[in-house]
Amino acid sequence: MSSIKDLNSLSQIIKDEINKVEKKIDTSNVGQVISVGDCIATVFGLDKAMYGELILFPGPSYGMVMNIEEDNIGVALFGDDITIKEGDLCQRTMNVVSVPVGDALLGRVVNALGQPIDGKGKIDSNIFRPVEMMAPSIMDRESVTEPLETGIKVIDAMIPIGKGQRELIIGDRQTGKTAIAIDTIINQKGKDVICIYCSIGQKNSSLAQIVNKLKQFDALKYTVVVSANASQSSPMIYLAPYSATSIAEYWMRQGKDVLIVYDDLSKHAVAYRTLLLLLRRSPGREAYPGDIFYLHSRLLERSCKLNDELKGGSITALPIVETQAGDISAYIPTNIISITDGQLFLNTDMFNAGQRPAIDSSLSVSRVGSAAQTKIMKKESKNLRMQLANYHEMLDFSRFGSDLDKTTQKILTHGAILLEVLKQKQYMPLSMAQEIIDIFVAQSGELDSIDPLKVHSFLKLLSIYINAHCPEIYENISNKKVFSDEDKSKVINILNNIKVAKITDDLTDEVL
Ligand code: ATP
Ligand code: MG
Repeated sequence: MSSIKDLNSLSQIIKDEINKVEKKIDTSNVGQVISVGDCIATVFGLDKAMYGELILFPGPSYGMVMNIEEDNIGVALFGDDITIKEGDLCQRTMNVVSVPVGDALLGRVVNALGQPIDGKGKIDSNIFRPVEMMAPSIMDRESVTEPLETGIKVIDAMIPIGKGQRELIIGDRQTGKTAIAIDTIINQKGKDVICIYCSIGQKNSSLAQIVNKLKQFDALKYTVVVSANASQSSPMIYLAPYSATSIAEYWMRQGKDVLIVYDDLSKHAVAYRTLLLLLRRSPGREAYPGDIFYLHSRLLERSCKLNDELKGGSITALPIVETQAGDISAYIPTNIISITDGQLFLNTDMFNAGQRPAIDSSLSVSRVGSAAQTKIMKKESKNLRMQLANYHEMLDFSRFGSDLDKTTQKILTHGAILLEVLKQKQYMPLSMAQEIIDIFVAQSGELDSIDPLKVHSFLKLLSIYINAHCPEIYENISNKKVFSDEDKSKVINILNNIKVAKITDDLTDEVL
């Protein structure tokens, strides 16, 4: 009996000694790679690792904890997975993924980790911000009231966007989605708005073109480009929009206005699906993981207008989503439509018929509405949507018969002119004053008698004449915020003089 007792106490002594040794060497921060492949490493031994924590692998390369299971963790690798082997040791860093932020990023092209990829050298910033941050609470926010001018007539007049709003740009492939976003960035020149263009899963060549255009229009100096191109790993693509938002938040918290474009979130959703399927998370609808809604809601919730106590900065978000054959009721589009404050729907048929930008006014909406419009724009554009709806309705009827009464014919001619005026070339954003004059002239009916093909020549000549002979009309609109009846009759007079002189007869848009 006594020998068993001795044995028990002996084993207790050995256990105590082992415990003492284990306490001295803390092994909970070092793990071992069980398997690696497809940019995912499964690691054993990091029981205390947090979700989203950065893990250091030999190389050195980094990964982010994306999956926590009972006896292992799944880490999404940011670098190449060929440098990491089974059995390698890895270590917790106790930090979450962060990106450099601040003015040093302006004019730069960076990857999802904030590292420069434009060959212009190191980014000189010692301020870092975690990529995942809580969205501002309701009490921290203020309602959206200030317009963010896109410089695109049809948007500023009918679907106005406010500072702090989230407006989705949605449409099939090659319908001018990116063009709207880039024009809006170009239009922010001199308006004290910092822009961020986040390119997600696109070709390198498309990005190079966009960066060149931004340079050409002198817009790169107030813009940051965050890119995770199609050839990069899914963890980098997954991270890119969050990093871009963190970069934007730094300026918003300093009271500045920021515009952020996510081009596009459909590719982001696909990258997240790939990542989580590789991590063996169970697939749900269309094989997307169950938290696909949360993926985009927590991202877009971070864009808002802060209240004055928090310095009143804002982030305006323009997420882009690609549809298949115009189907806006698919899974990802409906998710994002419900998260945003409205959408600009681009219609493929309109685009192919030459109506560019191809914004379908019947399916596009801004839930902030005219609260984000200047008073003059609100006044001048209030009937526009109605007139267009009337036109489309009559157009459908007119297909049934050739005998049209005068009123119908008038509506049809007027509608065609309105649509013509709303056409706008790429990279040609207009000032608010010019937009207001164009929309006023279009609605006045004075253009109805001219050939629709000549409308743009007329508008161009009109602006040249106003600039030369009565520039105060522009000043009154932009500075004094008034468009008086007197100024309106001056505009109509000039227009009539152009008509009578028939100057546009031999001129084309190109000459003007
Ligand atoms: P993708 O689905 O490939 O991303 P997208 O919807 O972003 O395409 P864009 O690349 O912006 O479309 O535009 C497609 C083409 O249409 C481009 O060649 C562009 O130059 C042209 N385009 C876009 N907007 C206009 C416009 N307002 N006027 C004339 N051409 C335009
Ligand atoms: Mg595009």
